[in-house]
Amino acid sequence: MGCGLYLVVPCYNEEEVLPETTKRLNDKMERMCREGLIDDGRSKVLYVNDGSKDRTWELIQQIHRENPRFTGISLAHNMGHQNALLAGLMTAKDYADAVISMDADLQDDVEVLDEMIKKYMDGNDIVYGVRSSRKKDTFFKRFSAESFYRVMSAMGVKTVFNHADYRLTSKRVLESLKDFREVNLFLRGIFPLIGYTSDVVLYERNERFAGESKYPFKKMLAFAWDGITSFTVKPLKAISVIGILISFISLLFLLHFLLTKLLGYTVQGWTSVICSIWLVGGLQLFCLGIIGEYIGKIYGEVKQRPRYIIEENLLDAAEQEI
Ligand code: UDP
Ligand code: MG
Repeated sequence: MGCGLYLVVPCYNEEEVLPETTKRLNDKMERMCREGLIDDGRSKVLYVNDGSKDRTWELIQQIHRENPRFTGISLAHNMGHQNALLAGLMTAKDYADAVISMDADLQDDVEVLDEMIKKYMDGNDIVYGVRSSRKKDTFFKRFSAESFYRVMSAMGVKTVFNHADYRLTSKRVLESLKDFREVNLFLRGIFPLIGYTSDVVLYERNERFAGESKYPFKKMLAFAWDGITSFTVKPLKAISVIGILISFISLLFLLHFLLTKLLGYTVQGWTSVICSIWLVGGLQLFCLGIIGEYIGKIYGEVKQRPRYIIEENLLDAAEQEI
């Protein structure tokens, strides 16, 4: 018998893509049921409405009424992609053997879903969807994403290169994820930390089916920064190294000034004084800023606020009707 599979799909203002996504996922799920890969009665698509401002939630409710294979939860306001994903994963884990997360915009190739499930059945607890090429992304997106993965690995954070949030996770992986209580979520850094056996499935990343990216440059930068500061204190260590370097250089300057003084040259160095004041002042502010960022993170974490609030849950509603 096939496995109970839940597909978790976060949606923020996705009314333009949802009908097509629903059609393609329904076709694919039907085929996988026929092939015996998944168990029809226990497999569903769980849409997570992340406080959309358009008709996304109305659409999800309508799709659910027309086809019980599709269900949804709605968050009380927009909580961000990662939190929406977490809300979906935590909800789905109570119903499924395995959960696959994917974007709503059909950029993640639906056709490799069965490959993921087969790898899960072969005994892998995590199957990462990895983009084999980024030909269809803009040059800027490709460049920024690749530099990001490089910086992360240089900082010693373990991530899977070119993997975003298209992945299969087993129930027990999600049970472990529950214990990661961080508010600053960077899921693709957490899964490699959880461990268990994992494998990858390659796919071609498609263009967004319709609508615009919900990750403008500013959000992308914030996300990358979250990824670094939530997983490594290397920037703080770099500050100490910079501090030591500057102290050493100033020692050399001091020697130089002492020597010129002893040799009786008149004081000239106005330019060098002004330059060093600005340079060192700027560096100090930069370092303070990094320390401040970490303190801000700690502040956010100690409050232990909920990471998501579910306002409506069609799964619960369905159970109550029974
Ligand atoms: N998303 C979300 N909440 C947000 C922003 C995005 O749930 O605040 C969802 C969005 O609907 C999509 C997925 O996260 O399903 C990825 O977003 P998008 O495709 O816009 O990002 P990109 O692929 O351009 O990086
Ligand atoms: Mg996308």
